[in-house]
Amino acid sequence: GRPVNDAFPLFEEPWKRVSDSCRVRVAVRLRPKNSEDLAHGADFDSCVELQPECKKLKLKKNNWSCESYRFDEVFSENASQKRVYEVVAKPSVLEGYNGTVMAYGQTGTGKTYTVGRLGKDDPSEGGIMVRALEHILSVMSLETDSVAISFLQLYLESVQDLLAPEKTNIPIVEDPKTGEVSLPGAAKVEIRDLEHVFQLLQIGGMNRHAANTKMNTESSRSHAILIRSSRIEDGSNTSLPNGTDNLFPDNLPLVLKSKLLIVDLAGSERIDKTGSEGHMIEEAKFINLSLTSLGKCINALAENSPHIPTRDSKLTRILRDSFGGTARTSLIVTIGPSSRHFSETSSTIMFGQRAMKIVNTIRIKEE
Ligand code: ADP
Repeated sequence: GRPVNDAFPLFEEPWKRVSDSCRVRVAVRLRPKNSEDLAHGADFDSCVELQPECKKLKLKKNNWSCESYRFDEVFSENASQKRVYEVVAKPSVLEGYNGTVMAYGQTGTGKTYTVGRLGKDDPSEGGIMVRALEHILSVMSLETDSVAISFLQLYLESVQDLLAPEKTNIPIVEDPKTGEVSLPGAAKVEIRDLEHVFQLLQIGGMNRHAANTKMNTESSRSHAILIRSSRIEDGSNTSLPNGTDNLFPDNLPLVLKSKLLIVDLAGSERIDKTGSEGHMIEEAKFINLSLTSLGKCINALAENSPHIPTRDSKLTRILRDSFGGTARTSLIVTIGPSSRHFSETSSTIMFGQRAMKIVNTIRIKEE
């Protein structure tokens, strides 16, 4: 038999390792220059240079200092939304896995464009959420399958429902046996067709805006989380990404629960605590807490540490089963081109580099 990996205690029940490890995939995406970048003169100075063909990115601190970093994928400012979806998200969307796609980066670098753009008028502009749900709709059988989504915002360590805004402070529940994380208090809406998906995402976006206006804050200060959950009774019908069909042997009956999380993280920029007042200080504290604790989990995973500190923040508690089990996690880090933001860009790239080292072990339950 295959060895059980004892060093990975995310699940209390015995789990059988069915494949070699599968690392978290990390892509970087460069936003095109915007008018603000260009307003800083014709001699616009970019601190990044991409070499997409060898998946490398050069970060120039100045004329003398330049570092080169390799990612799983490097998207230039010309990369289409379709290509980003296909490379970054599509492998996580397929049934049978806990798929997670997260966008991380400084505010204004294209996280929401990448993840949440609806593209209602111009489908080529549609982001990962729309494309993932469209893909799921296209493969599901309308008679027998049901796919439901929840759409949430995590702000100041409180989970708010973007589809049912009266629901705030939704508890995060963890199954003590399986480690499975769920939010049973959140609205789950069965999706019917693409038009319905647009409607729900639009309502969610409006509720996010309204909630943030009421609290006098910016959307960039909260994490937006879309969750699709489903249960698959028979793994042999499961479509798997190319090259991975040997993960689940034919003779093994499977009951797999799968879910997909798409997360538009709060802006990663450091928030200046000095000079801010009241809820600004709270915000700074909590955003720092959730992104710092996400970073700590990523580092612990990269080091194959026996303890992944997922309990430190609500963000990492929600993401707990994205960090192990049948998880297939991708991270897209977004950056802008301007050297004016060198330090934020550099810290975003370092975050992505640490995440490159994560190994998710794909396991299924021992029969
Ligand atoms: P964030 O969510 O990181 O704060 P946004 O997604 O709101 O950033 O992007 C900031 C602005 O840049 C928006 O106007 C968005 O449309 C534009 N933008 C970002 N990325 C791209 C891209 N790859 N191509 C075209 N426009 C982009």
